[in-house]
Amino acid sequence: MSSMDKIVSLCKRRGFLFQSSEIYGGLNGFWDYGPLGVELKRNVKEAWWQDMVSRHNELLQPKGAPSTYEMVGLDCTIIMHPQVWKCSGHYDLFHDYMVDCRESKKRYRYDQVRGRWVEAKGKKVFITALVEAEQEDATLQQRALKFFNLRGKDADSLIWDGPATSLADIKEFENVLAPDAKELGTLTTPREFNLMFKTIVGALGSDDDAAFLRPETAQGIFVNFKNVLDSSRVAIPFGICQVGKSFRNEITPRNFTFRSREFEQMELEFFCHPETSRAWYEYWRNRRFDWYLKHGLAAVRLRLREHAAEEIAHYSCGTADIEYAFPFLPTGDYGELEGIAHRADFDLRSHMEGKLVKNAEGQLVVEQGPDGKPKHRGSGRDMSYRNEVSNERFIPHVIEPSAGADRATLAFLCEAFKEDQAPDENGNMQTRTVLQLHPRFAPFKAAVFPLVKKDGMPEVAMELYGALKQKFPVFYDEKGAVGRRYRRQDEVGTPYCITVDGQSVSDKTVTIRDRDSLEQVRLKIDDVVAEISRRIES
Ligand code: ATP
Repeated sequence: MSSMDKIVSLCKRRGFLFQSSEIYGGLNGFWDYGPLGVELKRNVKEAWWQDMVSRHNELLQPKGAPSTYEMVGLDCTIIMHPQVWKCSGHYDLFHDYMVDCRESKKRYRYDQVRGRWVEAKGKKVFITALVEAEQEDATLQQRALKFFNLRGKDADSLIWDGPATSLADIKEFENVLAPDAKELGTLTTPREFNLMFKTIVGALGSDDDAAFLRPETAQGIFVNFKNVLDSSRVAIPFGICQVGKSFRNEITPRNFTFRSREFEQMELEFFCHPETSRAWYEYWRNRRFDWYLKHGLAAVRLRLREHAAEEIAHYSCGTADIEYAFPFLPTGDYGELEGIAHRADFDLRSHMEGKLVKNAEGQLVVEQGPDGKPKHRGSGRDMSYRNEVSNERFIPHVIEPSAGADRATLAFLCEAFKEDQAPDENGNMQTRTVLQLHPRFAPFKAAVFPLVKKDGMPEVAMELYGALKQKFPVFYDEKGAVGRRYRRQDEVGTPYCITVDGQSVSDKTVTIRDRDSLEQVRLKIDDVVAEISRRIES
């Protein structure tokens, strides 16, 4: 079993994640968070919100920041005026390429189909497979043997040419064997597919009333820029944060929650003066990278990748991705956790003037339709900012750190999953499964166990449980051997287990066991709440 399979199975068994609508066979690309998963994801979102908004001190200049700044929050609707998506560019440009298979009738995202050139019996074909990284080579070999009508012992007669690559690198599909096909050349040429979910607003709605489920939370922030400015008296530089659901009709959702069709984003739009925007971009890029490190992602599996000039959106002067080497990806591959983009004044100007495009001279101008009028008209509202001291008026530049709550949660889960050796209650070394989650994210911060269900121990344990529960989520368990109870808590990431034993009843002390070091210390019951609080805060 691969480590990813073990993580997926643990998530289901212990109530972190379930497939949506599972009793009806599930719905591809949709996931439900179970009792422990909901706590974990809420903790990730709450940590982000605290670090970005509620604990931000606007009077202090954080390390590395160009100046002090303010931060506020917002919560916008999922369905917005359709014109928002026309001006943002999503209506015209938010698409992926897909290919259809004429034989299997399946649809794939063009760049996600991967395969390898292989030659046998005088014919060279591109064999593809849509499987997890670890199974890729074995599956390709099996498919090649089958295609050429060879047996397992003939594997040496297959001549492979180069490593596996994406179908997007292949020009002609004539000699391509599609992932679920038996014949060659069954894939159609790639076609565009808009990723926005469409819906109808109003009981009598026709297609003219079509609206879209937001594919990102950012646009709600841009269209409310003036409202926030006028109502909260913030001054530039400042940021607006939002956490909420986004929807993308991904062609091939895969890799557990990594690519879902309904997911949550944690987005910050930071508004600043154009002259300082580069410095702010660098500040946010580094600060967000440090956030993942601080919360436990190993430096060897995390990277900050600056986009090459040709990868960057036309209006931007810098974009970087924070990426993590998820265990389901091929060795050396990384998946995006968060993108930090310098968006210049593109969004505010688009909502003011109409959808912008680059002209032949490289300037941003309002895109024109065939009639010479703006293709998608903006709101006409003034989105500029006036500096009350200098009187300077300008359209702010925007730095956008855009993170996925589900991808972050998945990365923290993958990183936390460990199998190590630990002594059981008889002192024998046994393999144990442990989630070494950062205490801030752990669904339960502590568990309380009476050693046995008698001699006054449950009463003492229940009283302590009640006191701890006032402060944070705690689990109470009196069933089975204490070693088994420890294991059950290790597996869901509970950082501290507190045991009430015979001594506790007489001298009012308990033991606290640390999930990671397995160290046990004895301390007074009256000090437990303060000690656990101190440990999870540090
Ligand atoms: P990708 O290239 O992986 O599709 P993207 O570049 O389109 O991602 P953005 O538009 O920058 O992603 O979205 C910001 C963040 O939202 C991503 O870094 C990711 O964490 C999250 N996100 C985007 N699409 C999905 C999805 N389908 N499922 C889960 N999270 C997603």
